[in-house]
Amino acid sequence: MNKKFVFIILAITVAAVLLWGIILFRKSVNIIEKPVSLPQIPSQNVPSPTPVTETPSSNAASSQSAPKNAYAPPLDRASERITKKTFGQFITPQNSPVQPEKFRGYHTGTDFEIFPEELNSDVPVKAVCGGRIALKKTATGYGGVLVESCELNSEPVTVIYGHLKLASIKKNTGDSLAQGEEIGILGKAYSAETSGERKHLHLGIHKGAGIDILGYVQSKGELSGWLDPCLLETVCK
Ligand SMILES: [Zn+2]
Repeated sequence: MNKKFVFIILAITVAAVLLWGIILFRKSVNIIEKPVSLPQIPSQNVPSPTPVTETPSSNAASSQSAPKNAYAPPLDRASERITKKTFGQFITPQNSPVQPEKFRGYHTGTDFEIFPEELNSDVPVKAVCGGRIALKKTATGYGGVLVESCELNSEPVTVIYGHLKLASIKKNTGDSLAQGEEIGILGKAYSAETSGERKHLHLGIHKGAGIDILGYVQSKGELSGWLDPCLLETVCK
C-alpha cells in the first residue's frame, strides 16, 4: 500500500513538474515573442529613412537643373546690372537712356552696366558658354570686341562680347574657351577701348555660325536673327 501510494505521489509530482515545465516554456516563448514584436515599434522611425532617400533625389534634381546647354552669366551679379538697354529696345538719340546717344535702331543684345566702384577697377568678363574664339578685333562702336562660337540646344550661335579691353584678352582667334573662363576685362570708359562709350558690356547672341556684330538693326523683323540673352534664364542672373 505504501509503495503504491509513494508511486502515485511520484507520478503526480512528475506530472506536475512536467506541466509546470510546459507552462514555463510557453511563458518563455511569449517572452521571446514580445521582443520580436518590439522591433516593429521602430516602424515609427520610418520618417528618418525618408529624408535619407530625399537627399539623393534632391541631388538628382540639382544635376537636372544644369542642362547640357545652360549658359552662365558673363559678369558677377549680372541681373543687378541690366538697367539701361535691354534686348529689342528701340533706341534713338532722343529717347535713349544713355546720353549723348549716337545710335538708332533695335538693340540686338543686352547691356550690363558697371557698379560705381568699378569705374576705375578691372571688371572681368567671363565666357557664357564653352566654345571657340571666332573673332577678336577693334571695331567702330565697340572698341574691343570678341565673338565666340558656341552651341545652344545643338544649334550653332555666335556670342558677341562688346566694349572689352582688347589688350587684356590673352587668347586668340581659334582658341577654345571654357564656360565661366575669364576672357578679359571691360574697356576703359569713354576711351578707344570702348569706342568712346561708357564702361559696360554689350552681350549679343546671333543665331547660326555666321559672324554678325551689329549692335542695332533697323527693322524689328531683323531681330529674329538674334536671341534675347535673358531668355536663357541662366545668363542674366
Ligand atoms: Zn549694347
